[in-house]
Amino acid sequence: MIVRTPEERAGIIEAGKRLGAVLEQLAAAAKPGVSTLELDALAEKLIKENSDNTSLKGYKPEGARRPYPATLCVSINDEVVHGIPSAERILKQGDIVGLDLVLDHQGYFVDSALTVAVGTISPKAHELIGVTQAALAAGIEMARPGNRIGDISHAIDSMAKDGGFAVVRLLGGHGVGHSVHEEPFIPNAGHPGTGTEILPGMVFAIEPIVNQGKASVILGPDGYTYRTRDGLLSAHFEHTVLVEEEQTLILTRRSSEK
Ligand code: MG
Repeated sequence: MIVRTPEERAGIIEAGKRLGAVLEQLAAAAKPGVSTLELDALAEKLIKENSDNTSLKGYKPEGARRPYPATLCVSINDEVVHGIPSAERILKQGDIVGLDLVLDHQGYFVDSALTVAVGTISPKAHELIGVTQAALAAGIEMARPGNRIGDISHAIDSMAKDGGFAVVRLLGGHGVGHSVHEEPFIPNAGHPGTGTEILPGMVFAIEPIVNQGKASVILGPDGYTYRTRDGLLSAHFEHTVLVEEEQTLILTRRSSEK
């Protein structure tokens, strides 16, 4: 994993502020009656009006048959990640919706996601969202110089398990900065003291994906949308962080976050 120069850090920090602001507005717009395509259009508008670029549209991940067709990933309820926006998918009261977005500001890429409650949700859904957020916080807490990637993975998995839930093992965090996905992969479960050593100047996205039931997921016929195999709920939170000597900065923090 690459240590960023001061100039790169400044660019990535600015990109993070911009993405946090866009996601804040998208979260506020996720109301009953809104289609996932409308959220996608809003994401694109907000990014472009700041002269930034959308990064996911046209991005072809390794192994994919076709490039991703939208700006935003929108994943409702049992959809785990990478849901493709559609005019036919209308948010309704009680849904939980994951919004995942990558933004490119002058060549600096940052990645962030959150899961939003649409209106009033069930106590179980509320609990799942809370535990996933806590898992992200626990992972970030371990992202400091001298620790290893496995310390982050272990903290995330432990928090999810303690909450009575299961992390998705197939998917996880990653380096970010000059493209959507960079080395290394950051698993959402692992052993403390293993993996790449964390150094000041590293930038990566940490993203717990937590299922209400079993960890198993299936990839849908569109080639992108993952769902839980058991049909139960899944939640996802993600931040891009910059590790510094004294502290780790959450670059994509939203204004409504504590
Ligand atoms: Mg990501």
